[in-house]
Amino acid sequence: MLKGRIIKALAGFYYVEAEGQVYTCKARGKFRKTKQTPLVGDICTIDVQDNGEGYILSLEKRKNELRRPPICNVDQALLVFSITHPDFDNLLLDRFLAMVENENIEPIIIVTKIDLDDTLIEKIKSDYHAYHTIFVSSKENIGIDEVKEVLKGKTSVVTGQSGVGKSSLLNALDIHLNIDTNEISKALGRGKHTTRHTELIRMHGGYVADTPGFSSLTLEMDPIDLSVSYHDFREYATMCKFRGCLHDSEPHCGVKQAVEEGKITKERYEHYLTFLKEVKEREAKK
Ligand code: GDP
Ligand code: ZN
Repeated sequence: MLKGRIIKALAGFYYVEAEGQVYTCKARGKFRKTKQTPLVGDICTIDVQDNGEGYILSLEKRKNELRRPPICNVDQALLVFSITHPDFDNLLLDRFLAMVENENIEPIIIVTKIDLDDTLIEKIKSDYHAYHTIFVSSKENIGIDEVKEVLKGKTSVVTGQSGVGKSSLLNALDIHLNIDTNEISKALGRGKHTTRHTELIRMHGGYVADTPGFSSLTLEMDPIDLSVSYHDFREYATMCKFRGCLHDSEPHCGVKQAVEEGKITKERYEHYLTFLKEVKEREAKK
């Protein structure tokens, strides 16, 4: 019996990497009856037969699970944003942060094209001091080694709008995915996900998913989940007087207090209120 990781699923077969080798596996007959279907990203135990083919015996509990694209156990998301051309879009960044943190995925903010303009760097550093942020220039090879470093030992997805410099960054990192970065951008703009197979690629001591990561910009969560999705908000929310405080009009709110004290920026808080309204409206329509 070997312990491994499903790195690809295709035509009923699962490709499991275990002890440096990839085994073509099937899910065991008995195993298929359980509710869980193996997913790319699953940690599993396999039984390898004499002919080299394997059977998946069991799956470990998942840390998280994305439906579109179907992948699980993602550690981190590289959120790629340009400092200019196109303009740094902090409303979109805050939306991504809510989505990613709600899925228990660690966000890494990658700010690209810093060779073009550095006037915003200090503001971004200060506004997002609670986050791991890396400033890069793929053109001038700045920050690239730091990105390589965060990939080590982790399973990452890459996401970001068109033109922000994803393909330039991936090239600088010497990462060649089976998708072009337009696919990442397109998937973000639409509700639908194009059917293609998902694969985890070994890179810089970790795995990078050759998939858009998130296929929709809709915040598919309840207001209460949104209220605790940002980890820095969550920290201050322990001071909220009311359980289930949505940090809106409730009195004695730890988050609003933190905004007053300048620990959370007004801008981020206003974005939060925009998203809160959005998820409440979505919930009311259900
Ligand atoms: P993608 O659509 O996110 O994959 O973006 P690309 O990597 O295709 O980059 C879009 C444009 O930005 C191209 O013209 C790149 O040459 C340019 N670009 C990307 N990264 C940098 C950078 O670090 N510095 C500068 N000055 N331009 C960049
Ligand atoms: Zn509150």
